[in-house]
Amino acid sequence: MREIYQEMGIGDRVYELGQACEEKLRGRFAAIDQTAEYNQLKVIRAMQSRKVSAECFMGSSGYGYNDLGRDTLEEVYASCFKGEAALVRPQVTCGTHALALALMSNLRPGDEILSPVGKPYDTLEEVIGIRPSKGSLAEYGVTYRQVDLKEDGGFDYDAIRDAIHEKTKLVAIQRSKGYQTRPTLSVSRIGELVAFVKKIKPDVICMVDNCYGEFVERTEPLEAGADMIVGSLIKNPGGGLAPVGGYIAGKQECVEQAAYRLTSPGLGKEVGASLGVMQSFYQGLFLAPTVVASALKGAVFAANLYEGLGFPVVPNGSESRHDIIQAVTLRSPQALIAFCKGIQAAAAVDSHVTPEPWAMPGYDSEVIMAAGAFVQGSSIELSADGPLREPYNVYFQGGLTWPHAKLGILMSLQKLYDAGILTL
Ligand SMILES: *Cc1c(COP(=O)(O)O)cnc(C)c1O
Repeated sequence: MREIYQEMGIGDRVYELGQACEEKLRGRFAAIDQTAEYNQLKVIRAMQSRKVSAECFMGSSGYGYNDLGRDTLEEVYASCFKGEAALVRPQVTCGTHALALALMSNLRPGDEILSPVGKPYDTLEEVIGIRPSKGSLAEYGVTYRQVDLKEDGGFDYDAIRDAIHEKTKLVAIQRSKGYQTRPTLSVSRIGELVAFVKKIKPDVICMVDNCYGEFVERTEPLEAGADMIVGSLIKNPGGGLAPVGGYIAGKQECVEQAAYRLTSPGLGKEVGASLGVMQSFYQGLFLAPTVVASALKGAVFAANLYEGLGFPVVPNGSESRHDIIQAVTLRSPQALIAFCKGIQAAAAVDSHVTPEPWAMPGYDSEVIMAAGAFVQGSSIELSADGPLREPYNVYFQGGLTWPHAKLGILMSLQKLYDAGILTL
């Protein structure tokens, strides 16, 4: 083993640190495997109950009428995530599109959105119109209100109560911290928040941005009382195989609204050819629980390895996990660049290219990104990125297999060591 790591460029010291760290994490890894086992059975049960068969993989073209695979897959998603219905389509281009669809279809002029968990994910600022943007909900007369989390990460219940009024139609709850420093919400905390909101206004729609959260726990937010969950298929539930797509699952009424907006009033879910992607959607969902487990092991391993070397990490090495993102504060541009070079060098695809910091639209500093992915931009695959500004945080996520995640993290450490940034 040591030899093949050496051939890959991992020196003895880094290898040994990695082995020692992994040894200490046996208990954590066993718990992650148990969650994967539970969720694997949940997925298989959903597929069996809907009688998934080879015909489901055939796909359709044109209008896509009577597409057995597409319709069955939507039932499988609904069953797996405990919703009444689901919309799972390659025509939903990404997570932002799925969220925009969920919002725009369920809201009407005069309605208000409330985010009780602080600022939403960057791309939603333009969807909602927090940053003025063509076609935003603000342009259609939908207003937005926000209540920030308290200093300690708790919900500001008093302010939430004050913010709910007759116009409040939808409460948007983002499960993952995304690229903020607040804690990620567990499903049970989401449940507490939904119960509180529903007590004040029972008919309000509680929508959860579920990106990066699927299969991390044994239950999903619909089981905790949410009305609608929304996510991307090139993150957790696509299992690394789905080449595109997004989903919305939950109440029949919410999903139907989204379907009529995605295609057209009068058409809804009846149209939308599945082309050739059905097998990868099914097989990706089948693999998702163990893929998410691999990514989680990578995140926990990185947290512990870097924490042990004195770097601040969020979440810390021992915290419970509710999404697959890991932040490491690297404290210098050299360290951030070296870390990303390591992740890139460990990839099966594009390992020969060198990531460089670059100006990106929407960011006020340069950003460096490392990804060698089979599916472009897929962040369930091993990837890392960070803005080149204090305190030089890197955000690290994904890994379709644990050995790949491990190699990537060891390689990042090796690059830091080689650059003379730390001594081991
Ligand atoms: C990734 C993500 C999105 C947006 O998804 P894209 O597929 O990048 O458009 C929205 N919310 C959260 C929390 C995310 O992690």
